[in-house]
Amino acid sequence: MMKISRAEFITSAANRGGWPAPERPEVAFSGRSNVGKSSLINSLTGRKKLVKTSTTPGKTQLINFFGINDRYIFTDLPGYGYAEVPLAVKRKWRPMIEEYLRERETLRGVVLLVDARRGAKEMDLMLLEWLAAVNLPACIAVTKIDKLKQNERRAAVDDLVRTLEKSGGLYGQWSGPIQTSAVKGWGKNDLMNQIEEWLEDSPRDAPAA
Ligand code: GDP
Repeated sequence: MMKISRAEFITSAANRGGWPAPERPEVAFSGRSNVGKSSLINSLTGRKKLVKTSTTPGKTQLINFFGINDRYIFTDLPGYGYAEVPLAVKRKWRPMIEEYLRERETLRGVVLLVDARRGAKEMDLMLLEWLAAVNLPACIAVTKIDKLKQNERRAAVDDLVRTLEKSGGLYGQWSGPIQTSAVKGWGKNDLMNQIEEWLEDSPRDAPAA
């Protein structure tokens, strides 16, 4: 079981020119604004303030790169779906993310975070389709599961699975959502197992020209 003993901020980038050299296997985290992404990354890395929580909408959105154990990289992709974000900023999100998913050669997999109380929305499903299109594995981390009562959790996950199946966006690369709570520390081992599997996997196929 991989243990994270070092985690540090490397850089933020708006485009390819700003990415760190493609030298270490990488895993990305993505999801709607406020889904709990900063909290979950902080919880996985054991660093309370590695990722700053709840950045003000309207600010330039960037991809944040974090070094993990001097061997790997985690990236924090800017959240989407925030109504307050100005149109000009929203327009930059998609090309930035598409470029990253398509061209980041060291990227091994993407953790898509979905709020337990909200389920998968259109952008989440679209992201899963892009991932399938560029042949990248995805897994779903259901966040804030502690906010649901025990008997509501299964129903929420079943609902989510149904939505995902209907959309067909996962194309069979899927192993079931992982229930997490950054507050309680739940799901960390399951999620780290998935991440470790990806990081130790061979590099992704060269993207089609
Ligand atoms: P981000 O915008 O996706 O980075 O989301 P944040 O990590 O900033 O979290 C958004 C809000 O949800 C904050 O108020 C967090 O305290 C809260 N939150 C995040 N994770 C959890 C969780 O696992 N359980 C509960 N109850 N609240 C959470």
